Amino acid sequence: MHDLTDLYQSVILDHNRRPRNRGKLPTANRVAHGDNPTCGDQCSVYLRMDGERVAEVSFDGSGCAISQASASLMTTQIKGKTAAEIEDLYTNFHHIVTTGETPEEINDVAAFAGVHDFPARIKCATLGWHAALNAVKGDPLPATTETHKD
Ligand code: ZN
Repeated sequence: MHDLTDLYQSVILDHNRRPRNRGKLPTANRVAHGDNPTCGDQCSVYLRMDGERVAEVSFDGSGCAISQASASLMTTQIKGKTAAEIEDLYTNFHHIVTTGETPEEINDVAAFAGVHDFPARIKCATLGWHAALNAVKGDPLPATTETHKD
């Protein structure tokens, strides 16, 4: 199974080296901030909603490799999706990182199955997803520094 492990690690390394959709989104109409104090991870997710669907997404943040790679991968998964569809994706991802069980079809998300062996890191892996769900529901986390429009 070493080859599989290497493949999974390469996905995480690749997202760290070349984060997807990183930086503030000037056109964003939703934003939420996530904070994982146990590891020092920060993640802000910016969305431009077009009706019910995510039209554009980006993230910004700092922290450990798992948190940043997971946020980067998340941005490649949720574009074009509704809140309900993103919740389904998150449920699937959460299952992978908490059980280590991977879907039969190998995909990039399965790269995070190894997090299962390090329970303290599960919060790192889910940080970006939590921020995305908060953003898509228009319900920013209390930790957000963004101010509401008058
Ligand atoms: Zn972390």
